[in-house]
This record gives sequence, C-alpha cells and structure tokens, in this order.
Amino acid sequence: MIEELVINGARVAAAEGTTFDTINPATGEVFRTVASAGPEDADRAVRAAAAAFDRWSTASAHTRGRVLHRWADLLEEHVEELALLETRDMGMAIGDARWCVGNAATVMRFYAGAIQTFGGATVPVDRDGVAMTFREPIGVAALITPWNFPLNIANWKAAPAIAAGNCVVLKPASLSPLTALRYAELALEAGLPAGVLNVVPGPGGTVGDALVEHPLVGKVGFTGSTAVGAGIMRKAAGSIKRVTLELGGKSACVVFADADLDRVGAQAPFGVFGNCGQDCCARSRLIVQESVLDEVLERYVGATRAIIVGNPEDPATQVGPMVSFGQRDAVEAAIARGVAEGARIEVGGTRPTDAALASGAYLRPTVLAGATNDMTTSREEIFGPVVSVISFRDEADAIRIANDSPYGLAGSLWTRDSARALRVARALRTGGIGVNSNSSVFPQAPFGGYKQSGIGKELGMEGLVHNTEQKTVFISTAP
Ligand code: NAD
Repeated sequence: MIEELVINGARVAAAEGTTFDTINPATGEVFRTVASAGPEDADRAVRAAAAAFDRWSTASAHTRGRVLHRWADLLEEHVEELALLETRDMGMAIGDARWCVGNAATVMRFYAGAIQTFGGATVPVDRDGVAMTFREPIGVAALITPWNFPLNIANWKAAPAIAAGNCVVLKPASLSPLTALRYAELALEAGLPAGVLNVVPGPGGTVGDALVEHPLVGKVGFTGSTAVGAGIMRKAAGSIKRVTLELGGKSACVVFADADLDRVGAQAPFGVFGNCGQDCCARSRLIVQESVLDEVLERYVGATRAIIVGNPEDPATQVGPMVSFGQRDAVEAAIARGVAEGARIEVGGTRPTDAALASGAYLRPTVLAGATNDMTTSREEIFGPVVSVISFRDEADAIRIANDSPYGLAGSLWTRDSARALRVARALRTGGIGVNSNSSVFPQAPFGGYKQSGIGKELGMEGLVHNTEQKTVFISTAP
C-alpha cells in the first residue's frame, strides 16, 4: 500500500507516480512506501489551498475554533496509533511520542480558543474619525518541517495558521512524513473543509523549492537547518513572501557552584539526550563553574550512564535509535573530531553492545569532557546525543562563553540565587531560558531563536501574529 498525498481533501498519487520508502531506524527495515510529490503536485496543492481560502478565511473565528477543538479530540482519541506511527517512522521512544501527541492536542486547543480573542484595536488619530485595526489571514501558507518532532512541529505551524484563516500546504521531511498525512486525514474527519490543509511529502530541493517559489504562496514557515533556511529566505525575497524560520541551535546549560547539584545531575542530561539529542533546543554545551566541575561531572555522567537506550516501542526505553543510519554516521564523525581536537569521552561514544539492538541506528549518549568553546563540537550543531563539557571561572565568564555562538535558540541555567538567575537569563542572547529546568517551550508562550537560530516566533499569541497581516481602517466622522 502506498501512503498517498493529501490534496484538496483526498488521498492522491503523485503526478509522476514516484514513491519513496521510509525506514524504521530501530530495525533497518522498510516501514512504509510514500508517494513522492514533485513540482506539479506542489502546484496542485497550492491551487487547492488558494481555492479554499475565501470560504475558510470568512468563516467566523468561532466556527474555526470548533473545528480545531474537534480535531484536538481526534488527536487524543488516536494517541496510540499516532504515537506508534511516529515511533516506527523516526525512532522516537514511545513514551515521548505519546507526550508529543498530547502536546499537539494542547496546542490545537490553545489556538481554538485564542483565535476567538484575537482582535484589533481602535486607535486615537489626529483627524476627526476613528481608526481601527484588523488582523487578517495572509492567504496560502507553505509550511516545511524537519524530521525530529514530526507531528509537533507540523502542528505548531499548521494550528495557528489554520486558526487564523489561512490555507496550508505542508511539506514534511522525507525521513518521517507519516504522522503529517494522518494528521490531515483527522482534520478532514473533524470537519476542516477540503483544501484547507494539503500534505505533500517529497524531496526538499524539488517540492519544497516549488512551494517557496510559487506565486500564490503568501507565507513560508520553515523549521530546519540554518543553511536551508538561509536559502529559503533568499528565494522568498523575490516576491516578498512573509517568512518565519526556526533553525539550528547550540544551546548552553550553565551550572553555577551554588546550584542544587544533585538535581542538576539527575535532570540536566535529559535536556540534551531526550529524543536521542535530535532536538533543536538540546543543551549541547554543558558549561560548569570550575569549582564544582568534578562534582557535576560525576553526577551528570552517572545519570547519563543510567539512561535506558533501547527498542523505542518498549515503554521503559528513554532513548531510542537515531532517525537514520546516515545521521548516526554523521554524529560518530563529530565525536571523533571532538576527540581529535582534545576532548575526552567520559561515557558513550559507541553503539550499544546488546545484540538485540545491532540492526538499529543506535548510539549511546555521549559526554565529551575537557572541551573548550572553540572546538568544532562546541560550535556546530551535532543533532545527536552528544554534549561538550566546558568550564568557567565566574559569572561574566559564563555569560561570555554561553553567548559565544552563532546560535541563540534555548538554554538553561542552574543556580539557587534568584537575582543571579534573572541577571544571567537577561544577559544570554537566546530566545528562551529555563532556570533550574530543562524547559523553555510551552504552547502558551512564544518560541523562536535569536541570531542564526531563526526569525519570528511560534506558539503563544505570537503564532497568530506571524500568520496574519494587520490592516488599518479609518472612518471619517467629518460632517
Ligand atoms: P533540513 O533543513 O535538512 O530539512 C528541513 C525541511 O526542509 C525538510 O522537509 C526538507 O525536505 C526541506 N528542504 C530541504 N531543502 C530544501 C529546499 N532547498 N527548499 C525547501 N525545502 C527544503 O533539516 P532536518 O535535517 O530535517 O532537521 C534538522 C534541523 O532542523 C536541525 O538544524 C535543527 O536544529 C532544526 N530544527 C529547528 C527547530 C526550531 O524550532 N528552531 C526545531 C526542530 C529542528
């Protein structure tokens, strides 16, 4: 059976009849065969979205909200099916995959309600009359997503875009396209009109490009690597498309000597090794005050060693395989480079020895101690289960090292001193910070990067701002 595209409310084959296989990275076996969209399919999908726009954009916010609530219900009702699909498609541990489906429903419900409060303002102007503002949908949004949190990231983009009255063409990553297709089917079941959400898996260089260049597309929402994001920004410039970019990261986890070191040791490893390190927010630089370096390292390494790496379908598993064998090769090469540059492996760095895991793309969580911030492993995003450990002297040194990165997406800092927490959180040039926490991303709060980690915000009310245009209307009251 071929997993077909979703265009104009129907499952359809790719125009050229091409397909590709997705591989279950836990086994190395083909999981599903998927229709591979090309430029003609991109065009069909954009035209379907454009045709649906009049009806959807003029539906009341209440009506749109009701559809989103039903869609959220369906996501929750299908949690086991969607979670297992994600797990087999990209290797995510089943517990995490279930959490992701729940998060998708929560985000959907947030926008179902938020759109009903998202209005304009009246503005006092220097003329007799009233000026008022309106928020209006942009039109067709092309949303291009990565493979690491396939359902979540698709939904972070599609839910606010659709709530705001836009129509969407979604292009998921080829390594993990399946939950996006099922998500669109559930949308139809929830009552979303045909054409409002179309899904076209296929190669980024062709179908993604065709979407970015398409004259009927008004906005491109992209999550992925900084290099591809830069290319998209260049291409979108030609027709002044609205662009939001959520890109790479090399986030810091800064540990001060006054922190609760037991809590740091127990929790902080999950801020980088969750989802096998394939997380744009991964705190992949552990920056520790030198006076407590040994104590932190001992705890952090101990907790890392105890992480259960295994079959992602086993509920006890905390970390499954990497998304692909190619991604594992790239991460192993990065570890070797770190060692060549002078870092030492404290734990991990190798594949698990358990014979049951031999045919999967597994890699043990890896701590590279003795790193400096100028090593390649500290500067480039590895996008795998690897953390570089760097030491600092004092607060100013910590801020300098953490900020010395082309990226600025997320981060954590651990301290018991609340004044320091706020001071350092404000000084870090990054879009989000968790104080004594691995978390800085919430459905209700804006999320997005500084510097080369992106432009624009997702989630929270900002998600609606970036999916709308703002219009000013002036009504003269002159007699
Ligand atoms: P990628 O940039 O290779 O691909 C992302 C998407 O873009 C895929 O759907 C791909 O097919 C498509 N694409 C590739 N070339 C294209 C082109 N020329 N035109 C249009 N589309 C194109 O990224 P990836 O390997 O899938 O994901 C990993 C990257 O994503 C990491 O850098 C990670 O940090 C980043 N990421 C960022 C966030 C965030 O919110 N900031 C979240 C998750 C992942």
